[in-house]
Amino acid sequence: MENSLMFIDGAWVEPDSGEYFPVLNPATGELAGSVPNGGYAEAVRAIDAAHLAFADWSAHTAEERAEYLMTWHRLIMQNLDDLAATLTMEQGKPLAEAKGEIGYGAKFIEWYAEEAKRVYGSTIPASARNKRVVVLRQPVGVVAAITPWNFPAAMVTRKIAPALAAGCTVILKPAEQTPLTSIKLYQLLEQAGLPKGVANLVTGDAVLIGKAFMEDSRVRKITFTGSTEVGKLLMKQAADTMKNISLELGGHAPFLVFDDADVESAVKGVIASKFRNAGQTCICANRILVQEGAADRFIALFKKEASALKVGNGLEEGTVIGPLIDKAGYEKVSLHVQDALAKGAHLVCGGEGFHQSDEEDAGYFYQPTVLSGVTADMRIMQEETFGPVAPVVTFKTEEEGIRMANDSVYGLAAYVFTESLSRAIRVGEKLEFGIVGINDGAPSTAQAPFGGFKESGLGREGGKEGIESFLETKFMSIGI
Ligand code: ADP
Repeated sequence: MENSLMFIDGAWVEPDSGEYFPVLNPATGELAGSVPNGGYAEAVRAIDAAHLAFADWSAHTAEERAEYLMTWHRLIMQNLDDLAATLTMEQGKPLAEAKGEIGYGAKFIEWYAEEAKRVYGSTIPASARNKRVVVLRQPVGVVAAITPWNFPAAMVTRKIAPALAAGCTVILKPAEQTPLTSIKLYQLLEQAGLPKGVANLVTGDAVLIGKAFMEDSRVRKITFTGSTEVGKLLMKQAADTMKNISLELGGHAPFLVFDDADVESAVKGVIASKFRNAGQTCICANRILVQEGAADRFIALFKKEASALKVGNGLEEGTVIGPLIDKAGYEKVSLHVQDALAKGAHLVCGGEGFHQSDEEDAGYFYQPTVLSGVTADMRIMQEETFGPVAPVVTFKTEEEGIRMANDSVYGLAAYVFTESLSRAIRVGEKLEFGIVGINDGAPSTAQAPFGGFKESGLGREGGKEGIESFLETKFMSIGI
């Protein structure tokens, strides 16, 4: 298997150190690829290239930039099967889900190719007869994007596509667990004929590469998806050069099921939300709050549906729940379940995991697990589990349900299941979350703004808000 390379200034390059790090298949522990162990110097060279390329790229017309994006989109769709296989191999999610992610990720490219043409400024009536007031929107400049392992394709396109559409140049640092999909995406960008230096890719030491991004005043924007802990660190570091910053961080999504819900549809919704990517998404339902009158019916049907989900290697037919990303991920899930059971929760189904690889850090699986009788003092109710475990808690009144849902430092996604229109609106408006799925367990889509309140982050990705964050506003006051 050949080593992968980094993409800097339009060329595929080796790391200065000559060192590569392994990417393991989390289902089997097999080697999925080897990727350059780059660091500070390579990141600076990528910034040099992006900085140099900015003048020409930002001077392209929106239509010209859109044309490159549409070509990239077409190439991705033509290579969908190959990209999805790479994604499953390095990340573990079932192949059907990986195909879904490639298609979903590609949608951002298509949508922002279209949106590039609608970056409108404005004119404002002046207060003097001899003046004109004009407002321009211009690209912020060089963008550094740092992405996580749970969506190796979509988190890349959701950042790169609006940045390129706006006229910015970019440097991507993908997660060390899942760089292979992003490398393939970049090969297709190169094939699309993107001018050199416009999009660069560095892999390796996150701290050193991050330091290069954060120290360099030429980097005008950081766009990050990952843990709240690293997000806070980047926000502090960004202060020194006053960078623009977008952060999409952790979540602890409440999933509210009211007495008047269609229980079948609520169970379908919770299965879609909870078990996608083996529970490893920041909008996965993490606290299932069920009103007392619906609890027995909901738990019985949830148990039946959840226990039927097949756990295994994502490349095998019929798998719905793939492996956890690594040993640390597995240990956190086990710990949350053990802690809940020790504090009096009831095991409805699942509750066990297994390890099937010679590799210490791969091959970890966990059964779909439902717990009932969960209380607020259990760790699972306070921290993001990032695994296929669903804690069910009951509540009495609408007010109590809303209060429990909002009782979190996080505010990314929330879900509400009810057949009452007025309740849906009432509750939806009171939830302190950036995304509310009403009778919908899968709310993400390219044309809508995705992002969180409170400690779940800053800024939005997707929709018109998603390109705004790559634009500066310039007010020109013109004397005539
Ligand atoms: P997770 O816990 O999901 O792996 P992280 O926040 O640790 O989330 O990682 C998300 C991304 O942030 C990854 O690409 C990772 O390499 C990167 N990262 C981690 N630490 C730093 C850091 N100190 N500076 C810059 N990037 C970092």
